[in-house]
Amino acid sequence: MKKLTAFILAFVLIFSSVSVVASAEHTHEAGLYADELSTESTHSFYCETCGELNSENHVFNENGECVCGYAKHIHEKLYAVVHESYHMFTCKECGSVFTEWHTFNENDECECGYKKHEHTPDVYGFIGTGHYYYCKKCYVQVSENHTLDENGKCVCGYVHPDKASVIETMIQPFKMMISIYRFWASAAVTGFKRGFEQGLNK
Ligand SMILES: [Zn+2]
Ligand SMILES: [Zn+2]
Ligand SMILES: [Zn+2]
Ligand SMILES: [Zn+2]
Ligand SMILES: [Zn+2]
Ligand SMILES: [Zn+2]
Repeated sequence: MKKLTAFILAFVLIFSSVSVVASAEHTHEAGLYADELSTESTHSFYCETCGELNSENHVFNENGECVCGYAKHIHEKLYAVVHESYHMFTCKECGSVFTEWHTFNENDECECGYKKHEHTPDVYGFIGTGHYYYCKKCYVQVSENHTLDENGKCVCGYVHPDKASVIETMIQPFKMMISIYRFWASAAVTGFKRGFEQGLNK
């Protein structure tokens, strides 16, 4: 029994000292740069010593180049609009992906091509705080707070708990679940339509 205890003790000691060595403080040394995680201002690398992923700001030399391979440039933007409040773009030059809020000019138009308009909702998906839908016309996702009528009902199917009958209170969680499934299905169909029409426009 004593032997076994000593053995376990040794075992524990060895392993705890191993982990102490591994977590010992060191300056992370740049190994492989992960290009796909690089942004306009930062790069990421796996540490040569501990393998941990680290992010830090680019350091640019006189030619505007960083040691990670990223060089300063004006992004050549390829827009993808997926939401009423933001757009994403991929830079054709460096392949980085950016997400930005739309910025609307006096004509309610953003430089990505998105223009404010009255959306035509496909099916609603809703939770307690708000609802979501895809617009059948522009294919973007819209997120809104519920708008309740005098009976505490929203157009999406949500009923405010204070106004809900016993039955409505009982079935609301299921209604929510079903609405979210229908919303996902709508997202898939919308994505397909958008891809198809963008393909045609090329
Ligand atoms: Zn390290
Ligand atoms: Zn860099
Ligand atoms: Zn770029
Ligand atoms: Zn935009
Ligand atoms: Zn729309
Ligand atoms: Zn609603």
